[in-house]
Amino acid sequence: MWRSSSSSEILAAAGRGTIALLYPPRCFICDVPLPEPTPLCKSCLDELEWFGENLCTVCGGPVPEGIDLCRECAVELRPFTHARAIGPYRGSLRALILGLKYGGEYALARLLAGFLAEAFPMEAEIITYVPQDPVRKKPQHAAELLARELSRHVEIPLEPLLVKTRSTPPQVGLSYEERRENLQGAFAVRHSGRGERVLLIDDVYTTGSTVSECAEALVDGGFGEVLVFTVARTLFSDED
Ligand SMILES: [Zn+2]
Ligand SMILES: [Zn+2]
Repeated sequence: MWRSSSSSEILAAAGRGTIALLYPPRCFICDVPLPEPTPLCKSCLDELEWFGENLCTVCGGPVPEGIDLCRECAVELRPFTHARAIGPYRGSLRALILGLKYGGEYALARLLAGFLAEAFPMEAEIITYVPQDPVRKKPQHAAELLARELSRHVEIPLEPLLVKTRSTPPQVGLSYEERRENLQGAFAVRHSGRGERVLLIDDVYTTGSTVSECAEALVDGGFGEVLVFTVARTLFSDED
């Protein structure tokens, strides 16, 4: 999935034009001084954890060898065609996402969008993102920053197709069913689609409830197939 040969190119591209990282350039994770303005040092880049080959063909969660579908996808039809994440939401990948969310590190958005473009085929007509909660807004909207950088990188137009119509309580600790219930009807399309294939971006896939509600709103709104790419994905063992 991941070709390390181009990692230095992605790093260089991510660092270009980033004034905040120029004086002096330091690794975002371990703080080691860097010879050029890139967000990560080589050893932190090498330590990033990527998903391997044995993934559920629908939701992208790890499954045992020889199994196509996880337990959830075997019993429930998802409103998206497939979801994929670069790696588990822990360690360095988690640190990068938190940096993007709370630190306003635009270079990290470029870096992570570069990873997404490298890891997955970008076969869509529109890129969009999971919208923010209208009340519980984060300092930075990671999904939008990622989608914006990805759109620029792969030259697929970005359109903010979705809007969150009401605030919903935090989802931490709830099951997939409880989360879906929480989010029922909370997303709407800004305009109707004409069957376009949409790439939906979010930072973290937890149970898939949010992207499922968004995908359902898109399909109900006239858009075609919905693909979901996230930077990371929680595993049952390290969900927080
Ligand atoms: Zn480092
Ligand atoms: Zn699955």
